[in-house]
Amino acid sequence: MNPNVNDTYWMRHCEIAAEASTCRVHVACVLVHRNQLVGIGYNGSLHHDHHCSDVGCLLVETQVAGSSNSGKSCIRTVHAEMNAILKCTVRGSKEGGWITAYSTYQPCLNCFKALVQIGIRRIVYDRVYKDEWRDKLYHALSDELALDEHLRMVKFSETPTDFIGEL
Ligand SMILES: [Zn+2]
Ligand SMILES: [Zn+2]
Repeated sequence: MNPNVNDTYWMRHCEIAAEASTCRVHVACVLVHRNQLVGIGYNGSLHHDHHCSDVGCLLVETQVAGSSNSGKSCIRTVHAEMNAILKCTVRGSKEGGWITAYSTYQPCLNCFKALVQIGIRRIVYDRVYKDEWRDKLYHALSDELALDEHLRMVKFSETPTDFIGEL
């Protein structure tokens, strides 16, 4: 295996993809299966809709996940992870090999669930995104999902890690 094709290599793809984002926070996600890029996405508008960068974000007041606080959220944008999943025609499996997701931010609850559902078992993120509901689910996962299949959400570090990460 080429040692240069590692977490750092794929995270750089993420950083470049994030430059294309048109919403206020630039996010990107790449999906990797057997060392091949199988999905890439950044957060942006629906095809043929306005770009937030042209007309401003479509903000609504929403409850911050898992807390009693509220915050502004843009409802125009499709999350980077969802866009990557929509482009991905591969499914991860125990027999065929699981998929790794690299993301500039930790995924929200719904993206986390969608990532796991298509056979992603390792999620490498660069920046923390607080979502207490996602964390609640993550810690409540069955042993089959959490242990046998090595589902891991790990913070990116410049030092490449192997496939059994911390946490
Ligand atoms: Zn926006
Ligand atoms: Zn999301």
